[in-house]
Amino acid sequence: MQTLKDLPKSKRQLEILLSKLEGFKNPKINLEQYETDPNLAAEILWTAYMYGDIYNKVVVDLGAGTGILGIGALLLGAKKVYLVEIDEDAINILRKNLNIVRRSASINSKDVVLLNLDVTKFEGVANTVLMNPPFGVQSKVTIFDNFVDKACRISDVVYMIFDKTKKNRISTILSENGFEINFIKRGRLLLKKKYWFHEKNNYCLDVLWIRAKRKLSMFYYTALPKNR
Ligand code: SAH
Repeated sequence: MQTLKDLPKSKRQLEILLSKLEGFKNPKINLEQYETDPNLAAEILWTAYMYGDIYNKVVVDLGAGTGILGIGALLLGAKKVYLVEIDEDAINILRKNLNIVRRSASINSKDVVLLNLDVTKFEGVANTVLMNPPFGVQSKVTIFDNFVDKACRISDVVYMIFDKTKKNRISTILSENGFEINFIKRGRLLLKKKYWFHEKNNYCLDVLWIRAKRKLSMFYYTALPKNR
């Protein structure tokens, strides 16, 4: 685990480290593979760090792709990070990216668990989930619900990027799971031309991202007497 003195000193320094990571080589449209760009990733990660949701915490990156969110959490001193990704090609790039950051950061192999899994199959608990799930545009809409549902079941705090059209859907799933949204922020995903149907070389997609928190912590649930 990174000690306090090793951590990036600013959001900008974190962004520079994240910009060294590789993105998808041949992104798969059916899995909606778009990496979060370093600027937005650093913004979300730095905010989460300032809220005390990263340092010395267990973090899960659902749909980790090439790993920018989970690796950012490692750089900011998470004590354990689970990276859950269904696609083996993405996992191979993720492995390379881990090696890139290991050159300049003190990350032990026991701090990282790489899981080549469907998110619905992940079993475990965490303090914090970070995710940029498939928006449910190309893939089946249920995939998006599955990600949000899983995040709520395994953690107390969720940071998530999503398309504006999903705002109501997210609010519903979160409140059904006993979560409340603490804030919603606007962000921009800088997308490089990846798929044949993209007309421009690069373009920006306006997105939203949130921090949502469980209203009652898991500890409180388990501390309640069984007969209540
Ligand atoms: N978190 C990364 C990648 C976001 S793209 C980033 O922020 O850059 C969404 C990722 O979810 C893709 O890598 C895709 O392969 C993965 N994914 C899609 N469906 C999945 C599923 N059912 N289980 C696990 N991962 C999935």
